[in-house]
Amino acid sequence: MRLIFLGPPGAGKGTQAKVLANQWQVPHISTGDILREAIQGKTSLGIQAATYVEAGELVPDLLIMAIMRERFGREDVEKGWILDGFPRTLAQANALDQLLQIMRQPYGKVVYFDVSSDVLVKRLLQRGRVDDTQETIGRRLEIYQEQTTPLIDFYQRRHCLKTIDGNLPISQINQKLEALFSALV
Ligand code: ADP
Repeated sequence: MRLIFLGPPGAGKGTQAKVLANQWQVPHISTGDILREAIQGKTSLGIQAATYVEAGELVPDLLIMAIMRERFGREDVEKGWILDGFPRTLAQANALDQLLQIMRQPYGKVVYFDVSSDVLVKRLLQRGRVDDTQETIGRRLEIYQEQTTPLIDFYQRRHCLKTIDGNLPISQINQKLEALFSALV
Protein backbone atom coordinates (compact mmCIF):
# COMPACT_ATOMS: atom_id res chain seq x y z
CA MET A 1 0.00 0.00 0.00
CA ARG A 2 1.57 3.26 -1.12
CA LEU A 3 -0.58 6.34 -0.72
CA ILE A 4 0.04 10.07 -0.89
CA PHE A 5 -2.56 12.19 0.88
CA LEU A 6 -2.94 15.58 -0.76
CA GLY A 7 -5.16 18.42 0.42
CA PRO A 8 -5.31 21.70 2.32
CA PRO A 9 -4.50 22.09 6.01
CA GLY A 10 -7.46 20.87 8.03
CA ALA A 11 -8.65 18.48 5.31
CA GLY A 12 -8.48 15.49 7.65
CA LYS A 13 -5.49 13.82 6.00
CA GLY A 14 -3.72 13.13 9.28
CA THR A 15 -6.83 11.68 10.95
CA GLN A 16 -7.44 9.22 8.10
CA ALA A 17 -3.74 8.42 7.65
CA LYS A 18 -3.40 7.36 11.31
CA VAL A 19 -6.38 4.99 11.16
CA LEU A 20 -5.49 3.41 7.83
CA ALA A 21 -1.78 3.03 8.58
CA ASN A 22 -2.74 1.17 11.72
CA GLN A 23 -5.27 -1.00 9.87
CA TRP A 24 -2.89 -1.81 7.06
CA GLN A 25 0.25 -1.97 9.21
CA VAL A 26 2.28 0.49 7.14
CA PRO A 27 4.15 3.56 8.43
CA HIS A 28 2.29 6.87 8.56
CA ILE A 29 4.84 9.45 7.46
CA SER A 30 3.75 12.98 8.36
CA THR A 31 6.26 15.76 7.70
CA GLY A 32 4.25 17.99 10.07
CA ASP A 33 4.61 15.44 12.92
CA ILE A 34 8.32 14.94 12.21
CA LEU A 35 8.89 18.72 12.26
CA ARG A 36 6.86 19.30 15.42
CA GLU A 37 8.76 16.55 17.21
CA ALA A 38 12.10 18.02 16.09
CA ILE A 39 11.04 21.50 17.23
CA GLN A 40 10.01 20.20 20.63
CA GLY A 41 13.23 18.22 21.01
CA LYS A 42 15.26 21.28 19.91
CA THR A 43 17.29 19.18 17.46
CA SER A 44 19.27 20.96 14.76
CA LEU A 45 16.46 20.22 12.29
CA GLY A 46 13.94 21.62 14.76
CA ILE A 47 15.90 24.80 15.29
CA GLN A 48 16.18 25.34 11.53
CA ALA A 49 12.49 24.63 10.91
CA ALA A 50 10.84 26.42 13.85
CA THR A 51 10.54 29.95 12.44
CA TYR A 52 8.94 28.69 9.21
CA VAL A 53 6.44 26.40 10.92
CA GLU A 54 5.43 29.00 13.50
CA ALA A 55 4.83 31.62 10.79
CA GLY A 56 2.78 29.19 8.69
CA GLU A 57 5.42 29.28 5.92
CA LEU A 58 6.74 26.19 4.14
CA VAL A 59 10.01 24.75 5.38
CA PRO A 60 12.59 24.92 2.51
CA ASP A 61 12.47 21.98 0.08
CA LEU A 62 16.10 21.03 0.77
CA LEU A 63 15.41 20.54 4.46
CA ILE A 64 12.22 18.55 3.77
CA MET A 65 14.04 16.34 1.27
CA ALA A 66 16.79 15.64 3.80
CA ILE A 67 14.08 14.46 6.21
CA MET A 68 12.44 12.27 3.58
CA ARG A 69 15.68 10.70 2.38
CA GLU A 70 16.45 9.79 5.96
CA ARG A 71 12.91 8.43 6.52
CA PHE A 72 12.94 6.36 3.34
CA GLY A 73 16.28 4.93 4.43
CA ARG A 74 14.51 3.00 7.17
CA GLU A 75 13.48 -0.60 6.62
CA ASP A 76 9.80 -0.28 7.47
CA VAL A 77 9.06 1.61 4.22
CA GLU A 78 9.42 -1.63 2.29
CA LYS A 79 5.95 -2.65 3.51
CA GLY A 80 4.45 0.49 2.00
CA TRP A 81 3.58 3.88 3.42
CA ILE A 82 1.06 6.67 3.74
CA LEU A 83 2.56 10.10 3.09
CA ASP A 84 0.71 12.92 4.82
CA GLY A 85 1.67 16.54 4.14
CA PHE A 86 4.36 15.64 1.62
CA PRO A 87 4.91 16.47 -1.21
CA ARG A 88 3.66 20.04 -0.91
CA THR A 89 5.48 21.69 -3.82
CA LEU A 90 6.27 20.65 -7.40
CA ALA A 91 9.97 20.52 -6.48
CA GLN A 92 9.17 18.07 -3.68
CA ALA A 93 6.98 15.96 -6.01
CA ASN A 94 9.80 15.70 -8.55
CA ALA A 95 12.32 14.88 -5.83
CA LEU A 96 9.97 12.17 -4.51
CA ASP A 97 9.79 10.65 -8.00
CA GLN A 98 13.57 10.42 -8.08
CA LEU A 99 13.78 9.01 -4.58
CA LEU A 100 11.26 6.26 -5.40
CA GLN A 101 13.11 5.44 -8.61
CA ILE A 102 16.41 5.14 -6.80
CA MET A 103 14.79 2.91 -4.20
CA ARG A 104 13.04 0.88 -6.92
CA GLN A 105 9.73 1.46 -5.19
CA PRO A 106 6.64 1.45 -7.37
CA TYR A 107 4.66 4.64 -7.64
CA GLY A 108 1.85 5.28 -5.18
CA LYS A 109 -1.76 6.37 -5.58
CA VAL A 110 -2.67 9.92 -4.65
CA VAL A 111 -5.79 10.80 -2.68
CA TYR A 112 -6.94 14.38 -2.99
CA PHE A 113 -9.10 15.56 -0.08
CA ASP A 114 -11.43 18.15 -1.54
CA VAL A 115 -12.83 20.43 1.20
CA SER A 116 -14.60 23.80 1.07
CA SER A 117 -12.68 26.68 2.61
CA ASP A 118 -15.28 27.62 5.26
CA VAL A 119 -15.20 24.05 6.61
CA LEU A 120 -11.39 24.21 6.70
CA VAL A 121 -11.17 27.43 8.69
CA LYS A 122 -13.74 26.16 11.18
CA ARG A 123 -11.86 22.88 11.70
CA LEU A 124 -8.47 24.56 12.09
CA LEU A 125 -9.76 27.06 14.66
CA GLN A 126 -11.34 24.21 16.63
CA ARG A 127 -8.10 22.20 16.58
CA GLY A 128 -6.24 25.00 18.34
CA ARG A 129 -2.65 23.89 17.66
CA VAL A 130 0.02 26.59 18.31
CA ASP A 131 0.30 27.28 14.57
CA ASP A 132 -3.51 27.48 14.23
CA THR A 133 -4.05 31.20 14.84
CA GLN A 134 -6.38 33.18 12.58
CA GLU A 135 -3.35 34.82 10.97
CA THR A 136 -1.27 31.71 10.25
CA ILE A 137 -4.33 29.80 9.04
CA GLY A 138 -4.89 32.44 6.37
CA ARG A 139 -1.24 32.30 5.37
CA ARG A 140 -1.19 28.49 5.26
CA LEU A 141 -4.28 28.38 3.03
CA GLU A 142 -2.74 31.01 0.74
CA ILE A 143 0.49 29.01 0.43
CA TYR A 144 -1.53 25.87 -0.20
CA GLN A 145 -3.32 27.60 -3.09
CA GLU A 146 -0.09 28.87 -4.60
CA GLN A 147 2.35 26.02 -4.05
CA THR A 148 0.40 22.80 -3.48
CA THR A 149 -2.67 22.95 -5.75
CA PRO A 150 -0.47 22.52 -8.90
CA LEU A 151 0.15 18.98 -7.64
CA ILE A 152 -3.50 18.08 -8.32
CA ASP A 153 -2.86 18.58 -12.01
CA PHE A 154 0.60 16.99 -11.81
CA TYR A 155 -0.85 13.72 -10.46
CA GLN A 156 -4.00 13.85 -12.58
CA ARG A 157 -1.84 13.73 -15.69
CA ARG A 158 -0.35 10.50 -14.42
CA HIS A 159 -3.79 9.04 -13.86
CA CYS A 160 -3.06 8.17 -10.26
CA LEU A 161 -5.32 10.73 -8.54
CA LYS A 162 -8.50 9.82 -6.64
CA THR A 163 -10.64 12.61 -5.23
CA ILE A 164 -12.47 12.19 -1.92
CA ASP A 165 -15.11 14.55 -0.55
CA GLY A 166 -13.34 15.77 2.59
CA ASN A 167 -16.45 17.61 3.85
CA LEU A 168 -17.98 14.27 4.87
CA PRO A 169 -17.79 12.96 8.45
CA ILE A 170 -14.63 11.06 9.48
CA SER A 171 -16.27 7.62 9.45
CA GLN A 172 -17.71 8.04 5.97
CA ILE A 173 -14.37 9.14 4.54
CA ASN A 174 -12.75 6.13 6.18
CA GLN A 175 -15.30 3.80 4.54
CA LYS A 176 -14.69 5.35 1.13
CA LEU A 177 -10.92 5.00 1.48
CA GLU A 178 -11.26 1.38 2.54
CA ALA A 179 -13.53 0.64 -0.40
CA LEU A 180 -11.06 2.28 -2.78
CA PHE A 181 -7.84 0.73 -1.54
CA SER A 182 -8.39 -2.39 0.56
CA ALA A 183 -7.88 -4.52 -2.53
CA LEU A 184 -4.35 -3.10 -2.86
CA VAL A 185 -3.14 -3.98 0.64
P1 ADP B 1 -1.35 21.27 8.12
O1 ADP B 1 -1.73 20.16 7.18
O2 ADP B 1 -2.44 21.60 9.07
O3 ADP B 1 -0.75 22.45 7.44
P2 ADP B 1 1.05 19.84 8.93
O4 ADP B 1 1.17 19.19 10.24
O5 ADP B 1 1.00 18.98 7.71
O6 ADP B 1 -0.25 20.74 9.09
O7 ADP B 1 2.23 20.91 8.73
C1 ADP B 1 2.52 21.91 9.67
C2 ADP B 1 3.63 22.83 9.16
O8 ADP B 1 4.85 22.09 8.91
C3 ADP B 1 3.34 23.54 7.82
O9 ADP B 1 2.58 24.72 7.99
C4 ADP B 1 4.78 23.80 7.30
O10 ADP B 1 5.35 24.91 7.97
C5 ADP B 1 5.54 22.57 7.75
N1 ADP B 1 5.55 21.50 6.71
C6 ADP B 1 4.95 20.27 6.82
N2 ADP B 1 5.15 19.53 5.71
C7 ADP B 1 5.89 20.31 4.86
C8 ADP B 1 6.41 20.14 3.54
N3 ADP B 1 6.22 18.98 2.85
N4 ADP B 1 7.11 21.15 2.99
C9 ADP B 1 7.33 22.29 3.66
N5 ADP B 1 6.86 22.53 4.88
C10 ADP B 1 6.14 21.57 5.50
